[in-house]
Amino acid sequence: MIELQDYTPIVGQNVIDDLRLLAEKLEGKAIQNINSTAVGGGVAEILNRLIPLLQELNVDAHWDVIKGGEQFFEVTKKFHNALHGLNEEIRSHDFDIFMEASSNNIAQTNIYGDIVFVHDPQPIALIKKKGSNKWIWRCHIDVSNPNRRVWGFLRDFVIKYDAAVFSSPSFSQRLPIRQFLISPSIDPLSDKNKELPEDVINGVLKKYGITKDKPIIAQISRFDRLKDPLGVIAAYKQVKKYNDCQLILAGGGAKDDPEGIKVFEEVKEKAKEDKDIHALLLPQNDLEVNALQRAATIIIQKSLKEGFGLTVTEALWKAKPVVASAVGGIPLQIKHKYSGLLCHSVDGAAFALKQLLNSPDYAKKLGDNGREHVRNNFLLTRHLKEYMLLFLTLYNDKDMVYL
Ligand code: UDP
Repeated sequence: MIELQDYTPIVGQNVIDDLRLLAEKLEGKAIQNINSTAVGGGVAEILNRLIPLLQELNVDAHWDVIKGGEQFFEVTKKFHNALHGLNEEIRSHDFDIFMEASSNNIAQTNIYGDIVFVHDPQPIALIKKKGSNKWIWRCHIDVSNPNRRVWGFLRDFVIKYDAAVFSSPSFSQRLPIRQFLISPSIDPLSDKNKELPEDVINGVLKKYGITKDKPIIAQISRFDRLKDPLGVIAAYKQVKKYNDCQLILAGGGAKDDPEGIKVFEEVKEKAKEDKDIHALLLPQNDLEVNALQRAATIIIQKSLKEGFGLTVTEALWKAKPVVASAVGGIPLQIKHKYSGLLCHSVDGAAFALKQLLNSPDYAKKLGDNGREHVRNNFLLTRHLKEYMLLFLTLYNDKDMVYL
């Protein structure tokens, strides 16, 4: 069992001491987190780590998951895409489906938190149960250019909250409530990110029939059009003309994402004529994700839209050279030519990949810088501190909380 103290060698004793101080101030407050899936995707990933650590700090933290059928998740997936600015056909009936499932959740969810921390749009309507307790809406999505109809619908709920939290300054919205900007984080000691012995990495490669005889370019991400797996294949094909290499496109589905299998089939179809493209449908297995990221020579994340992009954070922490699109939270993580390479197109991605394959020393320098950037800004301990400050701020008329 990982304890807070185990983070000291990574972040230093002062950081841990600050956390203990803040936690004491939250004594007696129940913090109830609510989202729509316990597994898959970035939100579940973060909650799985934050909740136990808050509990170790004696904060009364809880996590509940709302229910929803296939239709509800199809609608919320459409909302998700539309909030990212994709052209989705939204019917009036979709709002009815959303409200029907929301009514069931409103009826069935026990609200007991002094602070209710609601993640993303799926459970947003639970705000109808607001009493004298504090409610925060945590938006993990890039809403810099949202579909107006969907945002307008959600906004009516958002403004009833006490505060809203966004992951990046460009995602903030015009709202009559307080807004906070908090970046997500990764846990350096989780199965997803901890150091791995070489034989574990090799074991996973063997399981998937991959050998290390050529450099590996890898995108490990849900099979989702917004992650642009076909764009990754297109970039790889350009690179392959000059540098012999192989491509891993690996990912599992999330329970609240019904589109995954369809996208995977499209990728399989495109990959079938090249034995150096490994399209892998992964089980939910953090060690395997870790091993594949570590096995990669270069990590690519060619998303068309992105929330924060935790896969990039994970890759940088592993000191990997990363090529990633300049979307969502990725530019917060990658300073171009310092902690990775940003790209804006298939051609740009291919150019960056070739550059890294041809200059291993430069690639290593970018990876090392990336790891330090993550250590200073995107580890779980910084996230924990900002959440606790946020909770305390809700009880304070002024925006300052003193340690
Ligand atoms: N992930 C995983 N298995 C997969 C694909 C992704 O565990 O097959 C994890 C990935 O390592 C990261 C998270 O899911 O921790 C994805 O978060 P990100 O912000 O990159 O994107 P999202 O999926 O939330 O859009």
